[in-house]
Amino acid sequence: MSARYCNVALPVPLRTAFTYSVPENLREAAQPGCRVLVPFRKKSLVGVVVESVDEPPAETRIRDVAKVLDFAPALPPKLLELGRWMASYYVAPIGEVFRVMLPPSIELKSRQELALTAAGVSALEQVLSADDAARLTRQEADLLISLQKNRRPVFLAPLLKKGAPLALVQRLRRRGFVEIKESLSERKRRTQRIIGWKGACKGASEGRSANGGSLGEKEERLRALLEIERGPLPLPQVLRLARVSRALLERLVRDGLLETWEETIDPSEDPFDTGYVPPSHQLNAEQERAFSAIRARFELGEFGVQLLHGVTGSGKTEVYLRAVQEALARGKTAIVLVPEIALTLWIGRQCRAWFGARFEGVAVLHSALGDAERAREWRRVRNGEARVVVGTRSAVFAPLGNLGLIIVDEEQESSYKQEETPRYNGRDVAIVRAKLEGALALLGSATPSLETFHHARGGKYDLLTMASRVADRALAQVEVVDLRAEFQQTQITSPISSRLRAAIEECLGLQTQALILINRRGYSWSVLCRSCGASVQCVNCSISMTYHKHRNRLECHYCGSIQPVPKLCPKCQSKYIYFFGEGSEHLEERLRKEFPGARVARLDRDTARTKRQYQEMLGAFAAGALDVLVGTQMLAKGHDFHRVTLVGVVSADSSLSLPDFRAAERAFQLLTQVAGRAGRGDLPGRVIIQTFYPEHYAIQDAVKQDYVSFFDRELHFRRVMAYPPFTSLANVIVRDTNLENAIRWSRALSEYFSPHDGKGLRVLGPAAAPLARLKREHRFQFLLKSPKRSLLGKLLSGALAHCDAAGIPQTAVLVDMDPLSLL
Ligand code: ADP
Ligand code: ZN
Ligand code: ZN
Repeated sequence: MSARYCNVALPVPLRTAFTYSVPENLREAAQPGCRVLVPFRKKSLVGVVVESVDEPPAETRIRDVAKVLDFAPALPPKLLELGRWMASYYVAPIGEVFRVMLPPSIELKSRQELALTAAGVSALEQVLSADDAARLTRQEADLLISLQKNRRPVFLAPLLKKGAPLALVQRLRRRGFVEIKESLSERKRRTQRIIGWKGACKGASEGRSANGGSLGEKEERLRALLEIERGPLPLPQVLRLARVSRALLERLVRDGLLETWEETIDPSEDPFDTGYVPPSHQLNAEQERAFSAIRARFELGEFGVQLLHGVTGSGKTEVYLRAVQEALARGKTAIVLVPEIALTLWIGRQCRAWFGARFEGVAVLHSALGDAERAREWRRVRNGEARVVVGTRSAVFAPLGNLGLIIVDEEQESSYKQEETPRYNGRDVAIVRAKLEGALALLGSATPSLETFHHARGGKYDLLTMASRVADRALAQVEVVDLRAEFQQTQITSPISSRLRAAIEECLGLQTQALILINRRGYSWSVLCRSCGASVQCVNCSISMTYHKHRNRLECHYCGSIQPVPKLCPKCQSKYIYFFGEGSEHLEERLRKEFPGARVARLDRDTARTKRQYQEMLGAFAAGALDVLVGTQMLAKGHDFHRVTLVGVVSADSSLSLPDFRAAERAFQLLTQVAGRAGRGDLPGRVIIQTFYPEHYAIQDAVKQDYVSFFDRELHFRRVMAYPPFTSLANVIVRDTNLENAIRWSRALSEYFSPHDGKGLRVLGPAAAPLARLKREHRFQFLLKSPKRSLLGKLLSGALAHCDAAGIPQTAVLVDMDPLSLL
């Protein structure tokens, strides 16, 4: 029963689990799935017991598990299995995999309450009626009796202190006579401290202001983190990510370089929520058909994948909610994955309204929650207090028992892909988890990924189609403006064509609203010299710097570095510097100028830096306090604004021209999504797409909003080029700040790969990666292709072992299985 050794996954970038011996007194407790404290090198680390082992391992110096942290396993067996699958499929270190599956390991004081189960009660009855079928020892019976007699909750810690052996309690729990509920003893905190970058330095010399560039190393790190990479963050995250002391933060707040405020942290908190009454629509015929197919799947009670392909505004949410309700009615639990934090609020609110007074039964999990809050939600789920989980990517690991349904909304979204180790795709993990649990995976989208629709066409997934919008609303009418013709006519290089301008005017006249999509933030996305043609590049990355007018400086959107705005060309010293390519900041300014009466605002990562700012902006727009909202991709997603009659896309081309085989797919998806924001109320919608390539099929099919036509053409391209879904891909990046190293290691890998090339797989590379330099690192790329996925996996684990043997540092080699982007 209780093994003498166990394998523990530790949060270190090493690819194996580590064997520890389990001291006698911990053997009952150290079950697979439990977190344990173990010595590792000179530190103590928290890890997860992956499996118990009886055989003594070959190594001689085996150290002891120091402490078992969980009373009941933090991860149920199915999640352990899922973690092992991920480690192998994504060729990722197992400890890193479990790190993302577990709640943040912070010290939450918890208490374990002991309660008698129904089985316990009947066992007791048997004992008392002198029929000893339950075979309880004296001690066991005494404990059960004391539980039954006690009116107040019985907590574990005082019981143990009074001398009850832990093993006794564990034994009773395993036999199902008692259960243990963990509850958090600390009071619920309502707010958390947020730290933001302010950049003004009171009383200090110019040199220490944000733009002066001579900040200390730590200040520089904080600035990059808080101003450019992430925006304001909760205090504990700042301490961890910026690796600075609390004292330093306090000092910088006093100096005025940082600012701080309190924000509510209740995950269900929603400022627009007052008196929200959920719309209760009768399902229309198409929705009804989709829903009965889902119900029929539930009847089977086994694993299955369904794709709900519904055009924008076809009422998918309504179908999701009914599916969740159906799962709950069958005593099962459900996970709803959404691509964005903002949508967790929106769907969370609907779930709360639907699943009634007991909002307690709905948990919300996303990465912007503070550590304590995330740990608390996680525990509620683990304890069975919440039966529905709404969340972003990592909510796919929510430790629900008896899982019946996982919904993945907008399944094609790239935000489901984690772009750091472990590089998993939440949608694919959701399908595997559903398979392990015998549950239904319901993928929804208006523009499914090529892979998913291919599977649905081929019969691997059920295809449920909703082809029209609810309430007989028409899809928006989409028009294309050919920018070549526009320029020939007007000779003006304005990002706003005359047609779009007229449409905005019309919209303002009718007092309806417009959304204008532009794909770059900042004022100008390139700074060029007219004399020598050089553009100002980031010192760390092979990327041009973006000019931000309000902040009066150049920024790199990849690494966060900044430079002052040059007056002379850094290369040839000429003074003919010009700014090229309008970004969102410039467009906002232009619109304000051209439409003086209009209320214009901008939504991008610079203006919506906090959750609050984001919600305020969308709230103002929804309430009609704004006429025109300019913004980046953020605008395209999911919002249901009823007074939007015009959507303008300033340029459809930048996404089309990227050197990435998914460029057309992304462009089509974005255009269709954004077109879907128009005409969602009683007013018809109009969409204007500006482009230099009006003949490109991605644009033509977006105009017709014809997904299937796009799919067929794109699938043909993928087949000819041997790209997914016809082959599997893996992207391998070799990187180092030292160019020589990067070259040497790429060569070593290349030598390993080349004998395999052509044997059921293709190895392309090494070549300079499209982003040849990023955050000071030189990057080389291999692209591996094979129709057989398992071949790739085998080759890659071999390659990594080869790297280890050759002394190539593990951090130098990135493996991205099923990459979404090759940049
Ligand atoms: P999708 O996610 O498919 O784009 P939504 O789920 O956001 O669409 O629904 C679009 C709008 O239609 C929402 O305002 C929703 O309340 C409404 N709606 C959903 N179902 C119905 C129905 N059967 N009858 C009328 N309106 C509906
Ligand atoms: Zn120059
Ligand atoms: Zn950079």
